[in-house]
Amino acid sequence: MHIPFVDLKLQYQNIQSQIDKGIQSVINETAFISGKYATAFEEAFAQYLGINHVIACANGTDSLEILLKAYQIGAGDEVIVPANSWISTSECVSTVGAKVVFADSHPVHYTIDVSKIEEKITPQTKAIIPVHLYGCAADMDAIMQIAARHNLIVIEDCAQAHAATYKGKTIGTIGHAASFSFYPGKNLGAYGDAGGMATNDEAIATKARMIANHGRLGKHDHGVEGRNSRMDGIQAAILTAKLPYLEQWTQARMQHAQRYLSNLQHAGIQLPVIPDGFRHVFHLFVVQVPHREKVQQQLKEHGIETGIHYPIALPLLKAYAYMEHQPNDFPVAAGQMDKLLSLPMYAELTADQIDFVCEKLISAIK
Ligand SMILES: *Cc1c(COP(=O)(O)O)cnc(C)c1O
Repeated sequence: MHIPFVDLKLQYQNIQSQIDKGIQSVINETAFISGKYATAFEEAFAQYLGINHVIACANGTDSLEILLKAYQIGAGDEVIVPANSWISTSECVSTVGAKVVFADSHPVHYTIDVSKIEEKITPQTKAIIPVHLYGCAADMDAIMQIAARHNLIVIEDCAQAHAATYKGKTIGTIGHAASFSFYPGKNLGAYGDAGGMATNDEAIATKARMIANHGRLGKHDHGVEGRNSRMDGIQAAILTAKLPYLEQWTQARMQHAQRYLSNLQHAGIQLPVIPDGFRHVFHLFVVQVPHREKVQQQLKEHGIETGIHYPIALPLLKAYAYMEHQPNDFPVAAGQMDKLLSLPMYAELTADQIDFVCEKLISAIK
């Protein structure tokens, strides 16, 4: 049995007519950049989230960076980010000229450990970027309380958590602003790079929209220097066609996760834990296994593809060697990075496939 890590082809085949129709309309109308298809997606996604403003842009890394710029965070400022994430979360801080400050992971939930944030705050701290990692929300109440106490901006990195909720609230609507990635493999993915920003703050929305489009106010009227970070019409049309399926795909992921959890409950490995009152949308189903390379290799021999998110905690990447961090500075993230293993997870996965993965995993860890 071959079980890919994700199967974007299968998803396409199930919704081919809507996708093809969307792409064809963009071509027929030559609405290639921004324009009516991007606006339609912005409106649909804003309505879906229940937020006032969504600004489409080129990718989820740009959306983080543009939001930092919109809040005028730059040289001399510090931004706190989790030690375990995709590099975009920290990269955006450096690209605006601010200083990255890492906080360790929660030992069970993998998101930023809220008890490790306050010790990282200095008079220069301007913002926190919590990541709703693997599809599970960070502890937003605690984060918003810390932010309020220290007058900090909170930008939610929602790249892995479309449709997740936290105590009844949709993620992306809790912080001051939120960043989404629509990279193809994300829970809501385009067929190329795409991203988006969300906020209820009208002034920030206006700034972000300007920055993403050359500082433009109107035709040949540039209020500031911005950049080119617009969404392609084709990506917008694809996302608009896919959005109505997000809920059903999310339900499928959650169901698959339950099957994994029940099959693996006696496997003696650390399984994902869904905090009370959270809707974990399982962008990734991450377990911790001993002698991971061997386990991964054995699964591969049975045709099972797995991933690692992430093999090196951000502070220990070469990119941050200049900070001279040691694994001991982030004992949780550094202690977990050799054990994390992401099992196949996508809506179209079947019960038989999940059972097969679990059976092979259980024998591989013995
Ligand atoms: C994917 C991802 C991003 C960046 O998104 P791109 O669209 O690939 O630029 C940012 N943060 C996290 C946590 C991600 O997983």
